Amino acid sequence: MLTIKNYINGALVEPISKKYIDNYNPSTGKVFSLCPDSDEQDVEMAYQAANAAFEQWSNTSAEKRSKIMLRISSLIEKNIEKFAEAETMDQGKPLWLSRNGEIPRAVSNIHFFGTAIEHFASEAHPMGNHAVNYTLRTPIGVVGCISPWNLPLYLFTWKIAPAIASGNCVVAKPSEITPYTAYLLSEICIEAGLPAGVLNIVHGLGAKVGSAITSHVGIKAISFTGGTKTGAEIARVAAPMFKKLSLELGGKNPNIIFADCDFEKMLTETLRSSFLNQGEICLCGSRIFIERPIYEKFKKAFVEKVKVELVVGNPMQADTKVGSIVSKMHFEKILSYIELAKQEGGSVLCGGNAVKLQGEFAEGWYIAPTVIEGLQYNCRTNQEEIFGPVVTITPFDTEEEVLHMANSTEYGLACTIWTENLTRAHRMSFAIRAGIVWINCWLLRDLRTPFGGVKNSGVGREGGWEALRFFTEPKNVCIKI
Ligand code: NDP
Repeated sequence: MLTIKNYINGALVEPISKKYIDNYNPSTGKVFSLCPDSDEQDVEMAYQAANAAFEQWSNTSAEKRSKIMLRISSLIEKNIEKFAEAETMDQGKPLWLSRNGEIPRAVSNIHFFGTAIEHFASEAHPMGNHAVNYTLRTPIGVVGCISPWNLPLYLFTWKIAPAIASGNCVVAKPSEITPYTAYLLSEICIEAGLPAGVLNIVHGLGAKVGSAITSHVGIKAISFTGGTKTGAEIARVAAPMFKKLSLELGGKNPNIIFADCDFEKMLTETLRSSFLNQGEICLCGSRIFIERPIYEKFKKAFVEKVKVELVVGNPMQADTKVGSIVSKMHFEKILSYIELAKQEGGSVLCGGNAVKLQGEFAEGWYIAPTVIEGLQYNCRTNQEEIFGPVVTITPFDTEEEVLHMANSTEYGLACTIWTENLTRAHRMSFAIRAGIVWINCWLLRDLRTPFGGVKNSGVGREGGWEALRFFTEPKNVCIKI
């Protein structure tokens, strides 16, 4: 049995308590590794290591920091198969998705910020010929990065890469549900020669390790991705200490389809935006609104495509499109939402059930991709985040009506719009209340763009310069000439 270790002060270490949590492979429902059940003592040790490393790391040139980061990214790339298998074993997503999506993106995150830091510059504000201001951008110190289980290495590196690129030292916690690739990353950091203490990874539960990071007085900024409830708790604890906060939270994203769209392109992409990664992506479009003239055509073609193309199966198998749900608890939560949808008057057009596989996968947690119609836009199923392979379809007649429905949730992360009418695309993009709008595409990502949500989907933006600005403190220096 694999025993995962914490990565503190450049070494792989056991949790001080010597306690471990069972880590499940969701495709088999069996324990395959042990994850440290760390507590505030381990966080304190990590903080001390980070704090001790800060002086030197923050004064290391950007060029040198960059070189080390590029070594880390190319070592992950070299070991892509090992990382992909680990991610799939831990998270349940199909192996092809780990291999072609998740792990290459983690490589890109580190590469992107490792190179960006060499181009990061600050501003000057001259006051005619009598004074000049310039802005110093210095690293914050020790920062905390906390990430969820849905895109484990992808989201973990999305945070730690800009943090260390800009000269901070990090105490990080991956989700205890999916700790494996963060552990492999710690081995790579040692091999790449990342100085001890620059990155510290403390595995364990949110209530112990996460809250010890959030409440630590020496940790001056928290970058968090996860659920809205947890985000609110982090904000409550961190606010009185005036920590910098970046919170990337839940979503309930609308996918708005106008009758004038390119139907075939829209259909293919809507299948992806509904069910990729078992629907466990904060950006998935779980509420699909279809303009009435094409509602019946869409419904027939979409349900057919889901039934024919979306093979639910063992995630290691090449033809599997939908793997297993990450945990038993989450599996039960998704099924309970399907029951709720029925109680609320919804008709299940396909799926709606758990899927039982054979042999060693018989105890795994699988759910058939589910399409539901006939629900009110403001019922719980259409307002609360399910975060699984479940979408609802709803017809609309006017732009005004669909905007009202789309904007009706507490969330405002992302929106997809399908139309060939450019003026309408601009008008809708302006009116939709979300941090990200995709027109005639979905999840097309450029790492330079601001990433984040409005309303209860979060505070602040990640990506590009936004992330490097978050992880630095601007200081204005005014010189009288
Ligand atoms: P959670 O909020 O449950 O957990 C996220 C992380 O926070 C985990 O590492 C968790 O540890 C930790 N945590 C839990 N409680 C605390 C606490 N009190 N203090 C500090 N840390 C804590 O989210 P999930 O892991 O369930 O992830 C799914 C959620 O993430 C969905 O709502 C999804 O929308 C959102 N998400 C948002 C994205 C975005 O960019 N906006 C992207 C991806 C996901 P533990 O695992 O032990 O609970």
